[in-house]
Amino acid sequence: MWKDRLTDADLDSAAQHIERLGAMGCSLLRFAVPDLAGAEVLGRLAGMVCMPLAADIHFDHTIALRCMDFPVAKIRINPGNIGNKCAVLEKAAGKGVPVRIGVNAGSLPQDLRRRVEQGMSSADALVEAALRELAVCDEYGFTNVIVSMKASQIADTISANRIFSQGSTVPLHIGITEAGPLVAGAVRSSAALSLLLAQGIGDTVRVSLSDSMENEVIAARQICGAAAEIAALDGMERAAGRLKQGGVKVISCPRCGRDGFDTHGFTGRWLSRLYAMDKDITVAVMGCQVNGPQEARHADLGITGAGNKVLIFRRGTIVRTIGADQADSAFEEELSIIENAMGKK
Ligand code: SF4
Repeated sequence: MWKDRLTDADLDSAAQHIERLGAMGCSLLRFAVPDLAGAEVLGRLAGMVCMPLAADIHFDHTIALRCMDFPVAKIRINPGNIGNKCAVLEKAAGKGVPVRIGVNAGSLPQDLRRRVEQGMSSADALVEAALRELAVCDEYGFTNVIVSMKASQIADTISANRIFSQGSTVPLHIGITEAGPLVAGAVRSSAALSLLLAQGIGDTVRVSLSDSMENEVIAARQICGAAAEIAALDGMERAAGRLKQGGVKVISCPRCGRDGFDTHGFTGRWLSRLYAMDKDITVAVMGCQVNGPQEARHADLGITGAGNKVLIFRRGTIVRTIGADQADSAFEEELSIIENAMGKK
């Protein structure tokens, strides 16, 4: 999800940023559209980029109607507060725009909130809210719909999506809402989403972090990759194939008192560049002689501290012995050699 309010002055830099997120694996980007002026700006941006852009709209259905005058890829509405959803569905049907019904545990309809207070499970309430909205879509013959049922609780999210998917084939967008800061949010999202995805539940994924969009994309990719491994282990070949992630696999050491090389700083500087590479390679960033040379040797490209030197390995062969101050420039050159050998995209 885009993190800032968009203005016309931001459009060029936003378009460039979106291209970079796309290179990292983001395939759909949602924007909050708080008013009609925001719809105009998003509409202009949608015409500038290849990335499908989704408009996230609350409270005022006329914003959704205006967004659909532009090439937006999807409209997300919150049924609990959108107002005239029939007008939204009618226009979406005419324009062929999918609508996501985004049900959130924090904004359930009032009667369901009361029933939750009286003992109904949050998961059942989320499902019931979603089914009500689908019934409205049915009335209008609108089928181009996606459902999400998000909660900040892992168990509620898993239960709601399991219950829903047992009775419906409507596509699901899954995520833990307001998951938290980087580490906690990524872990909580991973616990819920990898389980659901490995069971074949979920068609699109959002990781909601109090952190950068880049880290949300990286976390989502890692979750899909982990879910693919779990699905394969459980014989869920179809789910595994759908989730399998290509691209760079980064192995990096946690660091300890033996380190001769700042692996944390180095990995942080290179992460976005590595994850934007469309190459199935392994890169190892290691701190010292204990495990470093072995791991680095097995990678397509490895860098490791070794005493007061830094070694760079390319497919098992030491190609550089340098000082730490030369590590970034030498690594860039070696990465380019690999990219060129594999055909730069
Ligand atoms: Fe420590 Fe070396 Fe292992 Fe890194 S590679 S954790 S520095 S022993």
